[in-house]
Amino acid sequence: MQLRVAHCVEICSALGPPGWPMAAVWLKGCHGDCRGCLAPELRSSTGGKLVSAAEVARWVCGLPRILGLVGSGGEPFDQAEGLAECLALVRRQRPDLGIIVYTGYEVDAVLRNGTEAQVRLIADGLVDVVIDGPFVEELPPAPLRGSSNQCLVAVTPKGEGMCSLIPAQGPNRVEVAVRDGKLFWVGIPPRGFGDRLPSELRESGVILRGV
Ligand code: SF4
Repeated sequence: MQLRVAHCVEICSALGPPGWPMAAVWLKGCHGDCRGCLAPELRSSTGGKLVSAAEVARWVCGLPRILGLVGSGGEPFDQAEGLAECLALVRRQRPDLGIIVYTGYEVDAVLRNGTEAQVRLIADGLVDVVIDGPFVEELPPAPLRGSSNQCLVAVTPKGEGMCSLIPAQGPNRVEVAVRDGKLFWVGIPPRGFGDRLPSELRESGVILRGV
């Protein structure tokens, strides 16, 4: 199976339990239509890069410094077959990793009405923590979540341990970098973050040239 991948980062600390270095993969394409979507550029299911599930798994398993993997998007559960194949390989080779996957679906709805592969992701414990539910623009953010209706659902004992490390309240961390001449950030940004970032960086003495 292939996955339509938008971006990958080898290591970040803004999308996992505090202090956990995580690799992150953003999948391209989303069935959803959340108003104020945090990643509108990832909703179209064209573009990005088609990569085999095995290749993504190989890449993750070769990263020595990470404690976990985050799958985001877009909608990872819209590519459940490829994702399940990838995570099963990761599980086999790197059982040490804690795996978090975001989805706009709710876990209960997936278990009731999901496709076989979507159910497998949860019921077979291919994911440790599912961060579920659509983004609701009117609600405030919560740790690791764009809106407070979204839930951290631990589906394995390891996931329970990971969730116990995530504070119930507090700000989200965002990491900013320049990649391929573009500003790139990882994390759950506050509303309007991208619009404000260039001027906030300028005020902090960071001058962006050619970005
Ligand atoms: S599920 Fe995520 S990517 Fe899809 S529309 Fe909602 S916020 Fe955007």
